[in-house]
Parts: sequence; C-alpha cells; structure tokens
Amino acid sequence: MKKSSCHPSKVVIIGAGRVGTSFAYAMMIRKLVSEIVLIDVNKEKAMGECMDLNHGIAFAETLNIYCGDYSDCKNADYVVITAGASQRPGESRLKLVQRNTEILKSIIPQILKHTTTAKIILVTNPVDILTYVALKISGLPKNQVFGSGTTLDTSRFRFLLGRHFDVSPDSVDAYIVGEHGDSEVAVFSGVQIAGIPLEKMKGYSEKKMMDIYKHTKNAAYEVIKYKKSTHFAIGLVATEFIEAMELNQRKVYPVSALLDGEFGLKDVCLSLPCLIGKDGVEKVMPIDLNARELKGLKASAEQLKKIYKTLKI
Ligand code: NAD
Repeated sequence: MKKSSCHPSKVVIIGAGRVGTSFAYAMMIRKLVSEIVLIDVNKEKAMGECMDLNHGIAFAETLNIYCGDYSDCKNADYVVITAGASQRPGESRLKLVQRNTEILKSIIPQILKHTTTAKIILVTNPVDILTYVALKISGLPKNQVFGSGTTLDTSRFRFLLGRHFDVSPDSVDAYIVGEHGDSEVAVFSGVQIAGIPLEKMKGYSEKKMMDIYKHTKNAAYEVIKYKKSTHFAIGLVATEFIEAMELNQRKVYPVSALLDGEFGLKDVCLSLPCLIGKDGVEKVMPIDLNARELKGLKASAEQLKKIYKTLKI
C-alpha cells in the first residue's frame, strides 16, 4: 500500500445520506485526513456507502474509511452532523425544526460520551437553530461548535455575481449574512471585484443585483424542485472548513456562530464572516453593514429567537 501523505486526523460523519456522503467523497479526494467514519441509523446504508468509497481508495490517499458507531468519536478531531430529515419540495428550512431538534437531542449526548474536544460542525437544517441547540445541549465552548451557515449561500452569490460580470467566483469578494434561509441578507455595500466596488463594474444595475439576490436565496428551492436535494456544493463547503482548521489557514467563512454582542446581538446563532483556524471559530470579523443590511440582520436574529422560544430543548 502506498504511504499516505494525509494528516493523521479523524473525521466522523453522522448521517450517511446525500450530504454526508458527498462530504465524505470530497474529503477523500482532497486527501486531508487519514480516517473517515460514517455513522447512520440505517447501518446497511452506511455500510454500502463505505464499501463504495473504499472501492475508490486506490486512487486516493485516505487510508481508512469505515462504518462505525458513536464509540468511534473517541480521538475524533471533527464531527460533522448531516443526519436528519431534509426539506420537502416547497418546505422552508424552519419547518424542519422540531423534527431535526429531536434527532440532534439524541445524537449530541452520544458524541459527548466519547469526545469533548472534537470540533462539531452542524450541517443539518435549519442549521442556525440546530447550531444553537447543539451549543446549549453540549455546553461546549462557542469556538468549538458551529454551523455551515451562509457559506453555501455566499458561494452561490459569488457564482452568480461572477457569471454576470464574467469573473471567476473566487475573485468576487461578497457575503451573505444572517439566517441560512429566507431572511438571509446580501451585503451589497461590501461587494468588490478586484478592489472595484460593485456599482463601478460594467454591467451593474440595481435590478440585476436584486435578481441575483433572489436567485441566491431561492437556489435551494429550485434545486430541490428539480432533483429533490442539494448535496454536492455543501459537501465541498464542509470540506473547506475542515481544511481551514486542519491547516490552520485562518480563512474567513460566514459560518453560523454564537454571537456575543456583535451588532448588539447576543445569544443567537447566525452567520457573519468568521475567521476559521485550528481552534474552530477564532473570531467574528468586524464587517461593515449599511443601515438596510443591519436592519435585515436584526430581523434575521429576531426571527430565529422567536423559534428558540417554541423549541423543546
Ligand atoms: P438524506 O435523507 O439523504 O440523509 C440523511 C441521513 O440521516 C439518512 O441516511 C438517515 O438515515 C440519517 N439519519 C436520520 N436520523 C439519524 C440519526 N438519529 N442518527 C444518525 N443518522 C440519522 O438527507 P440529505 O440530503 O443528506 O440532507 C441532510 C441534511 O442536510 C438535511 O437537514 C438538509 O436540509 C441539510 N442540508 C443543509 C445544507 C446547508 O447549507 N446547511 C445544504 C444541503 C442540505
């Protein structure tokens, strides 16, 4: 067997569905860690997925991919939660809330029996609510538990802006903040392409920008209408987080983190650009928002807080 150049780290994925396996596949190709464990209530499914992934291992360097149980969380560096029900066509992420809260309540204590040091990344929707629930149930520090938040929305936003202005999305500096959902906010005031503010770009019009925001916000509904779920892009998003922590890259992603006074918001999980390094969420970046964006962010927080009150945690 060839010698692996992967880091001797371990990722446990809870939920071997479309998102969990797309993430596992992306992780395997990215060659970041040497151990990937899949856990699912449906053991046969997890087993089949592991077999399928292992059959590609000759072309990757991840040494060990296996189907496990919660005891495999011991010595894990990262636990990524993708377990749960997904949105039905037309269903908002918030409607999923109590169904997936119950699932999370059963998962978190089982993880904590075996590790209190792994970073826990929430992907299951509604991700902002579930990140908050995971923090409350686990009592872990806020840097250690975060949700994928609006990183996927931001990537969609950058893709659409890039396509409109004919620039690669990774040269577009733009963020979606707030809830990963219907109240998310596009920070148009901060968008830059190669240092050029948006309004100065050839092809800019307010109407086109609103179209792009609408398409960003409704992207998941559209994809779900056509193919019932979204999973490839989010698989890559979660891989980016692992890479940023594993390599201590200190990259900035808009993840769902527990706020502690930023913009006057406290005790709520939502997305603002955060610095991700070896300790997880190391800092919430002091982004500039105009009055309209700030109002949107606060409305997002209000919306989420209303839901907390209805939850049985
Ligand atoms: P899926 O139905 O394909 O997979 C979910 C898996 O979870 C299934 O294999 C199921 O058996 C498993 N599961 C259910 N309860 C479990 C439990 N208690 N313990 C262990 N495993 C359990 O769904 P999917 O398409 O993979 O979506 C998963 C979640 O990810 C959904 O909530 C979806 O909305 C969310 N999602 C989030 C984003 C994001 O940007 N945050 C993007 C896409 C999807």
